[in-house]
Amino acid sequence: MPFAAVAIKVPLHRTFDYTYDTCQAPCVGGRVWVKFANRRCVAVVTELKEHSDVPKDKVKAIESVIDEMPVLSKSHLAFLRFASQYYCYPFGDTLFTALPGALRDGEDIDKTQTPILTLTESGRTTTQLRAKKQLALLEQLRSAGDATGTELKTLGFSQAQIKSLLEKQLIREELRQDTSWQSTPLQIGNKPTLNPEQATACSAINHNQGFRTFLIEGVTGSGKTEVYLQCLEKVLAAGKQALVLVPEIGLTPQTVNRFKRRFPGLPIDLWHSNLTDNERLHTWRRAQQATTALVIGTRSSIFLPFQSLAMIIVDEEHDHSFKQQDSLRYHARDLAAYRANQSQIPLLLGTATPALETLKKALDNKYQLITLSKRAQTSQDNSFHIIDMKAQQTQAGFASSSLQAIKRTLALGKQAMVFLNRRGFAPTLICHECSWISDCERCSTSATYHKNMQRLVCHHCGEQQFVPHQCPDCGSTQIMPTGLGTEQLEEFLTTEFPDIPVCRIDRDSTRRKGSLESALERIHQGGAQILIGTQMLAKGHHFPDVSLVIILDVDSGLYSCDFRATEHMAQLVTQVAGRAGRSGEPGTVLLQTHFPEHPLLQDLVNNGYQDFARYALTERQEVQLPPYAHLAIVRVEATSAHLVMTFLSDLVPAQPFSGIQLLGPIPAPMERLAGKYRYQLHIQATQRNTLHQYLMQLKDYIGSHKLATRVRWNIDVDPMDT
Ligand code: ADP
Ligand code: ZN
Ligand code: ZN
Repeated sequence: MPFAAVAIKVPLHRTFDYTYDTCQAPCVGGRVWVKFANRRCVAVVTELKEHSDVPKDKVKAIESVIDEMPVLSKSHLAFLRFASQYYCYPFGDTLFTALPGALRDGEDIDKTQTPILTLTESGRTTTQLRAKKQLALLEQLRSAGDATGTELKTLGFSQAQIKSLLEKQLIREELRQDTSWQSTPLQIGNKPTLNPEQATACSAINHNQGFRTFLIEGVTGSGKTEVYLQCLEKVLAAGKQALVLVPEIGLTPQTVNRFKRRFPGLPIDLWHSNLTDNERLHTWRRAQQATTALVIGTRSSIFLPFQSLAMIIVDEEHDHSFKQQDSLRYHARDLAAYRANQSQIPLLLGTATPALETLKKALDNKYQLITLSKRAQTSQDNSFHIIDMKAQQTQAGFASSSLQAIKRTLALGKQAMVFLNRRGFAPTLICHECSWISDCERCSTSATYHKNMQRLVCHHCGEQQFVPHQCPDCGSTQIMPTGLGTEQLEEFLTTEFPDIPVCRIDRDSTRRKGSLESALERIHQGGAQILIGTQMLAKGHHFPDVSLVIILDVDSGLYSCDFRATEHMAQLVTQVAGRAGRSGEPGTVLLQTHFPEHPLLQDLVNNGYQDFARYALTERQEVQLPPYAHLAIVRVEATSAHLVMTFLSDLVPAQPFSGIQLLGPIPAPMERLAGKYRYQLHIQATQRNTLHQYLMQLKDYIGSHKLATRVRWNIDVDPMDT
């Protein structure tokens, strides 16, 4: 009797056997309908076989076959099996995480087509339109080619603008006519001549020499993107597909446009969380059938089933958004390395501030290190200055010399950028009489005061409370904000510089659709302005008029329980600083700190991130922390602290396991979150194999533990926040 082993979306580390003699034969990698625990569900066939260990009278038959052709190739199944094992996440769950929603639900793989918007005859020639943004949309289609509605929205246009142009018959919707791009000569837009460093980089990266990982360590503006473009050119001209992973697409529409303009007429698809289910399925299919040549996507695009993938690029490889923080806790950069190896293709990792993990591999010669040391369009570097905050009089967190610097910058008609990684008005309210603090009732943290909304908002669980007029403890009316948030900076700077436009960019100010785009547009119009922002402002933007950057709070990064805090601080400072002086003259970067002599800070300021990172690596080696050791965390949470502790204590074996160090149970950095108690166990090993052997056993032990169903638990391999 023939059997099919199938994967089902259940949290079990195994597949299940079904027979199929009564229905049409399934295929490996194709979907079928099966009955499982009295439910009808979609399953993916992972193996066809002659024998099964399940007793004959117990084994059920497949109900029906969904796909005649596999939706997942054998190599893709192998990739997902690897991901499941590496991240200790059940295989069925892993596989279904990787599939687009429509396929998970059993929909026909060729169900949808997403219409594209294309210029009409009059749309091609119209130059007069009262609505500027509509004209810009026409211009977008002219210069970067047809696009779907979602794509245009990702690039900052609105549904209303699209609708208007449709009504005016300047654009129309049509179904994509997939021409075979592989057999059409690649068109190439204007490109600069590479500088010597870039040219060396491009000639080192040969797409025909199998698997190889390159780390392009290049300061901001050194022309990394140009290197990607010219490497991609060779791949695409050979009719092969490529994947470019980016941290976030909506924040940097300029980057997407650069790719589109460089390869006019080439089918380029975007992949990110704002796609509809149908768009997702369609892009998946286009990758699989090679009707798309290039996908620019956020982390989950690493799961797309390309037919002929020949290069993967991870831009800003240090960025934390590549690590998924729930369910399948994968790192897209690390999975990219597996995929590149599996497909025997090159992997390009680019950043100004490499993650220490990546840098170590480059220094160990596992990756080829390529350095771009000069900015492509500016000869001078930014100058850094440390401002000692000890015993300084401050105003809204600014040292007087910082305020002076803003004044000078504005007087020159330039822009100043102020960076603080805390939104809201103040991190907490405090009672002047009794020291009551506005804590979140469900978390072990304070609720942030948002003056504009007149609410206390917990940034961890989202809980909102009204602002009390009187202290809940002592009845005093002397309740005041302490600490700083971006809202407060905005209020202060608007009063301090009444004639100067002040623009705040953070998650609160950009919540409304289109508000980020209009803010960016205002900034780009130039002239004296003050920009205030959180890390949203640090990512990838190009602000030609910013010549001063002030970083208000470096100290929170210098002293933290997270061993990666200094690395993150240095990356952030360097990335934020990279926003300054991008158009010719070098910029000035001011760092306010209470610890001006801190060796890591000194190293960063005097010698730059490159030097800092190498020094930081020696520190990690001394204390044997990642990347000199490998780490996994078991996190457990429940409403009862006792239950969590009992369960975790039980995971610590009586006998030590050779090569494994255990730490814990210890409280999570946020011991209480949304009403749940959270504790964790750290598992560390010098050898990656030892760690994974241990985790395999642990996973099975947890799976059979009687308390495991009464708590929420997960294993996080290579965790980003500890
Ligand atoms: P990065 O990705 O490292 O930030 P980009 O590739 O965006 O750098 O380059 C920064 C700026 O310099 C861009 O405006 C780009 O067009 C320009 N540029 C890059 N390479 C060259 C070159 N070889 N000649 C002239 N301009 C260049
Ligand atoms: Zn009080
Ligand atoms: Zn909370």
